Amino acid sequence: MTSSLSPVHVIGGGLAGSEAAWALANAGVSVVLHEMRPVRMTEAHQTEKFAELVCSNSFRSDDWTGNAVGLLHAELRRAGSLVMACGDRAQVPAGSALAVDRELFSDAVTEALTRHPLIEIAREEIAGLPPPDWDSVILATGPLTSPALADAIRAKTGEDSLAFFDAIAPIVDADSIDFDIAWRQSRYDKEGPGGDKAAYVNCPMDQAQYEAFIAALNAAPKTEFKEWEKNTPYFEGCLPIEVMAERGPETLRFGPMKPVGLADPRIGKRPYAVVQLRQDNKLGTLFNIVGFQTKLKYGAQEEVFRMIPGLQNARFARLGGIHRNTFLNSPKLLDAALRLKAEPRLRFAGQVTGVEGYVESAAMGLLAGRFAAAERLGRAPLAPPPTTALGALVAHVTGGHMGDGKGSFQPMNVNFGLFPEIEAPTHDAEGKRLKGVDRSKAKKRAMAERALRDIEAWLEETKLEPASR
Ligand SMILES: Cc1cc2nc3c(=O)[nH]c(=O)nc-3n(C[C@H](O)[C@H](O)[C@H](O)COP(=O)(O)OP(=O)(O)OC[C@H]3O[C@@H](n4cnc5c(N)ncnc54)[C@H](O)[C@@H]3O)c2cc1C
Repeated sequence: MTSSLSPVHVIGGGLAGSEAAWALANAGVSVVLHEMRPVRMTEAHQTEKFAELVCSNSFRSDDWTGNAVGLLHAELRRAGSLVMACGDRAQVPAGSALAVDRELFSDAVTEALTRHPLIEIAREEIAGLPPPDWDSVILATGPLTSPALADAIRAKTGEDSLAFFDAIAPIVDADSIDFDIAWRQSRYDKEGPGGDKAAYVNCPMDQAQYEAFIAALNAAPKTEFKEWEKNTPYFEGCLPIEVMAERGPETLRFGPMKPVGLADPRIGKRPYAVVQLRQDNKLGTLFNIVGFQTKLKYGAQEEVFRMIPGLQNARFARLGGIHRNTFLNSPKLLDAALRLKAEPRLRFAGQVTGVEGYVESAAMGLLAGRFAAAERLGRAPLAPPPTTALGALVAHVTGGHMGDGKGSFQPMNVNFGLFPEIEAPTHDAEGKRLKGVDRSKAKKRAMAERALRDIEAWLEETKLEPASR
């Protein structure tokens, strides 16, 4: 199969670049996908596979009626997303979340891209601005964009890219968890897409154990930051546990260690605090400690995390770590079709645009791919309506939420707060008056139903037919 159209160059074969290449190729546009691994690795990637998941193995909630990321899953599936198709095939149990076996997932993405006749793969670092004869380029180089390319972008945009920290949570061997203490249960026994209600492993703490744990966290040695990292702000959604512990003794008990919706079978009630672990691979041999991103020194991590009841003999397959994240001041620099205003042949996608998370990054890749394909096919790149999860995200990134003049641009996970308001239903289908939580649930469902209607209309309107094959 060939295309008469000149290729679009996609730089970076992560979540966004893989999705962008797929969208382009399936519209009949040829692609050169430039990925620097394994020639040059990043601080976090460990393989040369496309769409490698560098930390958690979760795509988060799969509930499209009650959670905006679940809705984004649903929209991406309708739009032919490669990441969602491979994610669904590699699913492992995770309550109401969609979690995947990371190896099976990346293998599936790699195979699909490698086999596509319109995708040429170049294993090389693009170490500066792309050559002038590349007339359409998607930069999807992620939070760990190589320094040479990051410097060139900074020089071009005249903006200092903001940086913040993202962190890796530790992973333990399942057979080293003590199940005389730990038990399996999903919060509120909520059933996940795989039909399971007991996807998480829970380690309980009483008050004395919790207080001792917080004291140990506060006293433990932390990794020193490099000079250039010292004044970098944290992203609130991904705070290291020791930073949360420093904010007050109760912070963790209302954060990743909250015990709500869980009952310890040994005491028949909710414990004082709970540490949760989630399955990390298909075999079920590895579990990650949920929300336990950390910059404690490695030795200290083993010591402090073995204070968690049930993990006293834990073997750690991987310890936690901390990394810098690079992203653009996109509302200022990018237009509505994700093009650099100062040089429109360059388009950005993925986390570097200021979204946060695997699914959001893939979503921005899908959009960038569709926009670039539309241009190649002689059409205008049309953004999805802001009533959809895809549209709400791209509106956030390209300035939709800068109008209030408050604060600087911050990376964002998709959430219902980014969507235009909708009138909350006042009564349910049986005519019963809705109040409080029930009304708020009904409002989210109404937003989600509106989003799916609107995304289907947008997909129909922007259908990308291959020009020549
Ligand atoms: C340490 C860490 C932990 C994280 N944990 C989570 C998490 O638990 N959950 C979550 O949802 N998100 C997490 N993230 C964010 C995660 O990176 C993104 O959600 C997602 O991977 C971003 O997708 P992307 O395609 O934008 O970038 P990536 O997936 O990082 O892909 C970028 C690709 O570009 C390549 N590249 C970089 N520079 C060049 C160059 N100059 N030339 C050629 N190729 C290049 C890289 O090798 C890489 O393959 C984490 C990020 C980091 C750094």
